[in-house]
Amino acid sequence: MGWDPRLLDILVCPADQGALHVDPVAAQLVCQVCHRRYDISDGIAVMLPTPAPATDPDVEQR
Ligand SMILES: [Zn+2]
Repeated sequence: MGWDPRLLDILVCPADQGALHVDPVAAQLVCQVCHRRYDISDGIAVMLPTPAPATDPDVEQR
């Protein structure tokens, strides 16, 4: 997996600012607080909660 482990030092859960840890099997970041999962795509964490809030403007354009 070609992602930078230092991401964990700078990334937090966007929902609650919780610490993240890596699930190497799923290649996802997992919030230790709310257990939301975030995909890692080409070494870049996709910081969009899987169950996206309905108020998120980015989600409406599907
Ligand atoms: Zn969280």
